[in-house]
Amino acid sequence: MVYNLFSIVRKNNPQDSVNCSLCGLGSDYSGFCDPCLSAVQRQGQYCQQCGNSLGKQPIGAVCGQCLKKPPRYQALIAATHYEFPVNHAISEMKFEKQLHHIRSFSNLLLDELITYYQDIPLPQAIVPIPLHSNRLRERGFNQSQLIAKHLTRKLEIPMLEDALLRIKDTPHQIGLKAIERRKNLKRAFSVKQELPKHIALVDDVVTTGSTIQEASKQCLKHGVDRIDVWCLAKT
Ligand SMILES: [Zn+2]
Ligand SMILES: [Zn+2]
Repeated sequence: MVYNLFSIVRKNNPQDSVNCSLCGLGSDYSGFCDPCLSAVQRQGQYCQQCGNSLGKQPIGAVCGQCLKKPPRYQALIAATHYEFPVNHAISEMKFEKQLHHIRSFSNLLLDELITYYQDIPLPQAIVPIPLHSNRLRERGFNQSQLIAKHLTRKLEIPMLEDALLRIKDTPHQIGLKAIERRKNLKRAFSVKQELPKHIALVDDVVTTGSTIQEASKQCLKHGVDRIDVWCLAKT
């Protein structure tokens, strides 16, 4: 089933009009004014499977790394590239509770999703990457769940917020090498219910992909055969 995503996303347009998430000036429905929008939009071509830059490879291609050893997920769709001013906004969102960024960046992600799912079916459910209960207590909210909540409303597909559980309290991953991240994340997740065949995993930022790889591994053991990753920013 192919949805008419364009009409779904824009049907609440008038009351959605807000100020720009980054500079505070006027914006359209998306939450960014035009100059800020061009500052955050991703330029260039990216691997359809892992989301890394393709450099000079042809459009629509999968990168060499994915050809050699594909990740457990089939596609990665990112709203933006994780660099200034996006990195700054995302840390404001997480550490200073600037939650207006969730709505504006999720709207950008929706635009990417509209393009991607034009001719292919949407996932049957959205699964946010969970925080460990200690981290959740410390922060007060799970940003991935808030992003997923925004998307579930706009796309009208269910969110399974309790399906995936973080059972290991991993240290902050910032600054760690890929191999250390992978080690930390081993058996970090547990799946609490059978999942539909096609799901979207939602995370705020994807860097090395260790978190979504480990979460995907668990989901694939519980009825899933296709995972798409949706994120606000990819490094
Ligand atoms: Zn602006
Ligand atoms: Zn790739």
